[in-house]
Amino acid sequence: MLRGEKVTKRFGGLTALKDIDFSVEKGSIFGLIGPNGSGKTTLFNVVCGVYKPEGGKIFFEGKEITGLPPHKICKLGIARTFQIVKPFANMKVIDNVAIAMVHGRGKVGLKEAREKAPELLELLGLHRKADTLAKSLTLAERKKLEVARALATEPKIMLLDEFMAGLNPVEVDEALSMISKIREDFGITIFMIEHVLKAVMKICEKVMVLHHGVKIAEGSPKEIASNKDVIKAYLGDRYA
Ligand code: ADP
Ligand code: MG
Repeated sequence: MLRGEKVTKRFGGLTALKDIDFSVEKGSIFGLIGPNGSGKTTLFNVVCGVYKPEGGKIFFEGKEITGLPPHKICKLGIARTFQIVKPFANMKVIDNVAIAMVHGRGKVGLKEAREKAPELLELLGLHRKADTLAKSLTLAERKKLEVARALATEPKIMLLDEFMAGLNPVEVDEALSMISKIREDFGITIFMIEHVLKAVMKICEKVMVLHHGVKIAEGSPKEIASNKDVIKAYLGDRYA
């Protein structure tokens, strides 16, 4: 469904991504892990059109999308959430979702979007907060709002950037069921960056590992957990 070929991204003298090949199967949950600064968010930004890569190509459903602007990529059916949540802070929760709906894949006007938004909020347990300003939400609620906004665009694939960071163990479990539900009930493919390894190991079919902008491993969670390079660069000896 989503494929990268030798993706390279530089920031001045720093090579944030070097010749990254990856392929996310339709209907799967694909995990991306690696130490801080290894290039994970940069890869999402290249896929979503925030950055144009210096080298390589991105394909979505067989068509090349390299270098398309973010709004066009969103309309094709690729949605993402941000590691540092980015709601429209001074707007109501419901309007945050309605605006995403208007600019997504469906052809929905603002009035219709406001009528449809509560259903999505209900699904994420945010319906009681519909009229709250986004800036007044707790972190866990803001993270749910990120997902609600992404879902509102009717994506075919969703990119989650460290969705579970900062959540407590109960919230992590809730997030795990939510992600499985998004895949099962909506048929949306998931590409997720995550540091909460318990979560990655539990729900991802395939995991890719970046280190200093280079892909050092790819495989099933089990293969990754016993890979010597991954243990050395990221997991630490307790995984050995
Ligand atoms: P990760 O998400 O894996 O923690 P990032 O993709 O955010 O890592 O960053 C990878 C590297 O690229 C880091 O060294 C970071 O400082 C650098 N980087 C990311 N974005 C920019 C930018 N806009 N300008 C300059 N350097 C950047
Ligand atoms: Mg990051």
